[in-house]
Amino acid sequence: MWRAAAVRALPGGGAGAPRAASGAAAAQLRRRLESELEDIRGAGTWKSERVIASRQGPHLRLAGGGGGIINFCANNYLGLSSHPEVIRAAVEALEKFGAGLSSVRFICGTQSIHKDLEEKIARFHQREDAILYASCFDANAGIFEALLTPEDAVLSDELNHASIIDGIRLCKANKYRYKHMDMQDLEAKLKEAQKHRLRLVATDGAFSMDGDIAPLREICQLAQKYDALVFIDECHATGFLGPSGRGTDELLGVMDKVTIINSTLGKALGGAAGGYTTGPKPLIDLLRQRSRPYLFSNSLPPAVVGCASKALDLLMESNAIAQSMAAKTQRFRSKMAAAGFTISGKDHPICPVMLGDARLASVMAEDMLNRGIYVIGFSYPVVPKGKARIRVQISAVHSDEDIDRCVEAFTEVGRKHGALS
Ligand code: PLP
Repeated sequence: MWRAAAVRALPGGGAGAPRAASGAAAAQLRRRLESELEDIRGAGTWKSERVIASRQGPHLRLAGGGGGIINFCANNYLGLSSHPEVIRAAVEALEKFGAGLSSVRFICGTQSIHKDLEEKIARFHQREDAILYASCFDANAGIFEALLTPEDAVLSDELNHASIIDGIRLCKANKYRYKHMDMQDLEAKLKEAQKHRLRLVATDGAFSMDGDIAPLREICQLAQKYDALVFIDECHATGFLGPSGRGTDELLGVMDKVTIINSTLGKALGGAAGGYTTGPKPLIDLLRQRSRPYLFSNSLPPAVVGCASKALDLLMESNAIAQSMAAKTQRFRSKMAAAGFTISGKDHPICPVMLGDARLASVMAEDMLNRGIYVIGFSYPVVPKGKARIRVQISAVHSDEDIDRCVEAFTEVGRKHGALS
């Protein structure tokens, strides 16, 4: 009743044509935006959205198209995004705790499930405490400014994720950028940074464009030598790297040497949304007082909390899902190498098929979709010039047959476009 009345009260019944703002400034803005958009199209870097008409999973139906598309471009590494128990947990949390909190955490936005999930995350990573955010982008935006002052220094891998770069931009610490995974360069920068009060080395645990893994053992050794702290972003590692899926620090045996972990609930851990920081209790306490995306943004909705909490339960019960993903990754990587392709990275479900030429990556990705295989081509400025690629992401819920069909399609399309001899 109230909705119908409200809609009727809107001019045009709420369903009229969009109105363009009038005035010279609005017209000037429109011209400037249109020209900028034209430049993006002209540069060949336009990003469009493909609309999915089904749940996230290994097999998709695209809007306006047929079904039966095999999806190789989600971060759904463990296949939990549409896992029946994860969905059921979300529905139960929705029914019991409502749609949302209409509040930030410290006003009236903390429910028992938020505290339980923070405790579970800390336990999963074997850390003292954890704090939730609406996303890992927010966790990265909130940590450096809260922790570091102009007396301190942050040393960041040049290929770190955009959200780490933005988070560092927001803080007033002295900034050092070291060459990608280059330990000599990191050491030189650590020597230079000795004059500051505190040094924090910040790196992705696994890099999403190359599927390569940060040399954390060496980073931690240098950090020890030069009295620095280590921060890792584990978005592409949490839940599946390491013997029990704890992440890069477990994989490389340095769980007790990494001080701070930021990660996401929006990839392997159910795929809904949300991020977190886990680490020493006083740090988490400080973030609750100072971190702006935490203080000034709404609490995670209960359904989202329910998904992540169930995903963590499943992972803490057994690492069978992570092992099955590792076996499938191995199958894809070895079959593609045997077919003559170069796959970047090692043992990671992000498998970039290196092609070099941007147009080749784009036409091959399009042709793969014509064969029912959904993959995405990446070119400059997302990756360096001349290093265009098609990024394939393997999931525990791909069947061996899905993987083999993908390799066959790559082989056909690669031959057709001259990427394979
Ligand atoms: N860090 C890395 C390395 C990522 O790949 C992403 C997501 O693309 C993020 C942070 C942001 O995560 P979220 O989607 O939770 O904001």
